[in-house]
Amino acid sequence: MVENTFYQNYEVPEDLRFRTQDILRNGGLNCSAKLEPKYFENIFTPPNRITQVHVNLEFWPTGKEITVRGHVWGKRTVRCDRCLKETQQDFDETFLETASAKAEIIDIMLFVRQTLALTEDIQFLCSPDCKGLCAQCGKNLNDGPCECKPEILSPFAALKGKFK
Ligand SMILES: [Zn+2]
Ligand SMILES: [Zn+2]
Repeated sequence: MVENTFYQNYEVPEDLRFRTQDILRNGGLNCSAKLEPKYFENIFTPPNRITQVHVNLEFWPTGKEITVRGHVWGKRTVRCDRCLKETQQDFDETFLETASAKAEIIDIMLFVRQTLALTEDIQFLCSPDCKGLCAQCGKNLNDGPCECKPEILSPFAALKGKFK
């Protein structure tokens, strides 16, 4: 790999809006940055949230377009759907996109946000075998069993209450 001092000294724009000319003039660009969490505040449905984002970006001109390969990784805090406990998880994603070489600005933040939005699961779990909460006393059953008696599953149990 050819060493290019421009790559090392290039200051990544905080909002990831790159000037196309900077990329074309140097025949490409490879850079990394840690991003401010404020750019990702409203991507997940609260209380789920993205807390840390790093990117590595590789740009190269391909005729009328510029291709960019992105590696996005970091941390997210999510609430377990079964026991409601908040846990921190790592994520690690990649994307491959193209942008017009004629545009003045290439908005990479858009691609990063799109990539992160796709990582929101319909149902987050703290672990695949989370035991959840007791339906009667609300105790987190991952911390151990509760004092409740198991519910009677006979259909007559429900009828009994009705005709009392
Ligand atoms: Zn859980
Ligand atoms: Zn219980």
